[in-house]
Amino acid sequence: MSLQELYQEIILDHGRHPRNFGPLPESTHSAAGYNPLCGDRVHLYMKVQEDQIQDIAFEGAGCAICMASASLMTERLRGEPAQTALATFTEMQATLTGERDTSDDLGDLACLAGVRQFPSRIKCALLPWHALREALTGSPEEAPCPSRS
Ligand code: ZN
Repeated sequence: MSLQELYQEIILDHGRHPRNFGPLPESTHSAAGYNPLCGDRVHLYMKVQEDQIQDIAFEGAGCAICMASASLMTERLRGEPAQTALATFTEMQATLTGERDTSDDLGDLACLAGVRQFPSRIKCALLPWHALREALTGSPEEAPCPSRS
């Protein structure tokens, strides 16, 4: 089996059987994303304590690429510090848009790097990651105080 085929298998497996799929009742952070080009919808939930992602889950419906990306993301980020999650977002974005050549350091996430050959699917793969960043950086705790007028 070639590496390409192995990556294909991982995506199909996670696309069909997404890990960490479902609501997270004790979530402290959440965000939703929608990709109108493909119809993908992802709602991401996280329980973050002391800047660490204690738990993470998602709901939604979409193509195999989107579901696999969300599934792989939750597997990767559970237990990680929020800063690491944001750094991984930046790496994934750069990898999928072709800004960086290597995906060797991404582990299982590297299987998503192949989508950069298919520009219309890049949004599918990045949708859960954008929701991640929004959930982490747009959280009520960190939002600036509303300006008084
Ligand atoms: Zn899609």
